[in-house]
Amino acid sequence: MTLSPAVDAWAEEEPGAATDRSGWPGGIPSRVVRPRAVIEVQQLLAEAYRTRTPVIPRGAGSGLAAGAVGVEGAILLDLSALDRILELDADEQLARVEPGVITADLDAAASAHGLMYAPDPGSVGISTIGGNIATNAGGLRGAKYGVTRDHVLALDVVLADGSLVRVGRDTIKGVTGYDLVSLFTGSEGTLGVVVGATVRLIPRPARTATAAAYFADIATAARAVTAITRSGVRPAVLEILDGRTLAAIDDLEGTALRERGDALVVIQTDGYGAEEELEVLTSAIAALATDVQTATDAAASDALLFARRRALPALEALGRVLIEDIAVPRKRLAEAVDGISDIAQEEGVDIFVFGHAGDGNLHPIIVTERGAADDPVPDAAASAAERIFALALELGGTITAEHGVGRLKKEWALRELGPEVHALQWRLKEAFDSRGILNPGSSL
Ligand SMILES: Cc1cc2nc3c(=O)[nH]c(=O)nc-3n(C[C@H](O)[C@H](O)[C@H](O)COP(=O)(O)OP(=O)(O)OC[C@H]3O[C@@H](n4cnc5c(N)ncnc54)[C@H](O)[C@@H]3O)c2cc1C
Repeated sequence: MTLSPAVDAWAEEEPGAATDRSGWPGGIPSRVVRPRAVIEVQQLLAEAYRTRTPVIPRGAGSGLAAGAVGVEGAILLDLSALDRILELDADEQLARVEPGVITADLDAAASAHGLMYAPDPGSVGISTIGGNIATNAGGLRGAKYGVTRDHVLALDVVLADGSLVRVGRDTIKGVTGYDLVSLFTGSEGTLGVVVGATVRLIPRPARTATAAAYFADIATAARAVTAITRSGVRPAVLEILDGRTLAAIDDLEGTALRERGDALVVIQTDGYGAEEELEVLTSAIAALATDVQTATDAAASDALLFARRRALPALEALGRVLIEDIAVPRKRLAEAVDGISDIAQEEGVDIFVFGHAGDGNLHPIIVTERGAADDPVPDAAASAAERIFALALELGGTITAEHGVGRLKKEWALRELGPEVHALQWRLKEAFDSRGILNPGSSL
């Protein structure tokens, strides 16, 4: 397919924009347009609509679902240059931002006013607010503060035909009309292009307290998560790592985490009662843990969280990683980790497990030999991934908790949603994008 001369004139060839961080081998180098004003996004969409040119919105390309990848005949619409924080209102506790703002930069700007932008995906230093909204990103603080959707009040969206609409409002409450903010949030660039957002800020916690609790095995660690959920205290961070991941971190960083136990749960509480709350939580798991370290100052807390932050880099150092992203009811975490271990043995593949236990969200990471970027995924690894999705559904869970469906999990999304709901989603898609130009081939 050839691009319209108008679109082609705006675009540049950028081979690096072929794929995202999922390692999707199908991405191709595409023509990229990087607008510097909302009106340019509108002009591009209007021309794409007229010429039926597919448009793939893209933030930082840190996605793990092959949502923002190069597609034959499509334009990659890179929003990263729309990166201004337009307003930070400390009295109303909200910020108005462009989509290309890096998540950590917004949180740092809020911090200067004693505020916090709560969603903090592991990619906080590289991903954009627009990408976070499009994927409804989660993060480490999700156990207490929820996901991106819980923090978005209003959106400016360019629709498929180039028209600009504003949905939601700049008030903390408001229920007029359908909740289109929630619909666009998590729609993975298939319903409209986010060109602005009003997001909620919250008071930055005065104190934090952190614990690293080690266990004899991951099933016991999962039981500790249930004890924490029942304790009456809600931690801000509740992360779990299995022993194999700890060993990989030790190999990369020269630490000795594995000597302390075969699974780690990292807990953080925050606010004025942080220390008291942490005491309640550590008492709740004392009978299960083999070793518990605690910290109340920032540097020592960071040291305890260090292992969690290095989990993915440590596995990437071992080979090619397939990052899965299931969630199960939290009381079934132990069954999920047992099931994943069985799958690894039966398929003969290496699977490491860490995740946001407070949300029931596990990231089973299948590590295979590093080959060429476009090598197909080995059959055993692909089969293990399929069985992990099936396990998640059997346990009453979901095939993706935060990374999105993208091009990777479309078949499984259909299985999870069922034909009626899937068809309803297509009807919504057609209402917003009758010519099917917005991120075609992704999500549905
Ligand atoms: C090391 C690492 C750690 C990660 N940790 C987490 C984590 O803890 N939690 C989590 O949820 N994710 C995590 N991710 C995945 C990823 O960072 C998130 O999905 C993130 O939200 C993507 O943001 P992005 O700006 O890179 O978007 P992209 O990857 O560029 O795009 C992602 C999707 O959003 C769409 N999109 C992007 N911008 C817009 C826009 N302005 N309007 C409409 N659609 C748009 C794209 O079409 C695509 O479908 C991690 C990734 C890495 C590499």
